[in-house]
Amino acid sequence: MFAELEAVFNNDGAVLALDYEYDIGDASVVTPVHVEGEIINRTGIVSMKAKAKFDYSTQCALCCKPLLRHATIPVHHVLLTELQDEDFDDLYVQVENMRLNVDELISEDIWLAIPSRFLCKEDCKGLCMQCGQDLNEASCSCVKAVDPRLAALSQLLGE
Ligand SMILES: [Zn+2]
Ligand SMILES: [Zn+2]
Repeated sequence: MFAELEAVFNNDGAVLALDYEYDIGDASVVTPVHVEGEIINRTGIVSMKAKAKFDYSTQCALCCKPLLRHATIPVHHVLLTELQDEDFDDLYVQVENMRLNVDELISEDIWLAIPSRFLCKEDCKGLCMQCGQDLNEASCSCVKAVDPRLAALSQLLGE
């Protein structure tokens, strides 16, 4: 969605409500992204506050189990018609010609906010490195590789 913001920038107190869905165009996001919030001019400062909600699929980093997660990503930016040198922060966004590509801005925030690594549960045991057995479901009979330094130590101790 493109937001035409001339009326918001020019009128103290003006509000543009956001409540729409868009397709982010990535296979891992399995629902449209639902955006809810507003762009508001408070005493001349225009800011955007919104939440982006969607479901996405990923997998456990240890056992590779497919996971479906729901995400709510908070979005907060101060919109400026011209950036100053000191506005290097992600908080500040320049709006050229009073026209903002809202989808693009929200998508950037989403990719920054989604963690790159997931576990199906905190104590996931993962897969056996040798036979691939899911150790959450059953143990396997593979011999655990013994650290050669420990083996030498147990010899010294006469075990
Ligand atoms: Zn797992
Ligand atoms: Zn095994």
